[in-house]
Amino acid sequence: MITVLNTDGQELTPCLPHRAWREVNRFRAVWIDEQTIKLLYNPFSFRDYRKAALKRDKYTCSWCGLPATTVDHIIPASKGGSDLPVNLLAACSECNTKRGNRSAFSYFKEKAHSAPNIIKLCYRILIAKHGHHQTNQKVI
Ligand SMILES: [Zn+2]
Repeated sequence: MITVLNTDGQELTPCLPHRAWREVNRFRAVWIDEQTIKLLYNPFSFRDYRKAALKRDKYTCSWCGLPATTVDHIIPASKGGSDLPVNLLAACSECNTKRGNRSAFSYFKEKAHSAPNIIKLCYRILIAKHGHHQTNQKVI
């Protein structure tokens, strides 16, 4: 079994190795050593944040306007992006997969023609980036 630590370093329920690899491959966790992973998100609130973001965006993909069932991180979790709704966009699974770990602006350029609301999308990305920047400054 793999030891799982939350973002504060507290121990959570251990998980199987394949589960740990999946979390790491999805940029949701990092390896601390060969027996331990540390989550990059708070597992107790992400579900609520995800639900809030989907509801806010009316279950519509922010990139292409199709029905959304997933949320996309504006700043990827691997780059320190938070799981707060301000960093999330409702997205269909296709856009979520296609974008992968690319920057939001690079995918935005590609999807600008199909986005249901370009101004709102652009604004969201800017706000998320600005908030992220501020958070970084506080840490320093
Ligand atoms: Zn989409």
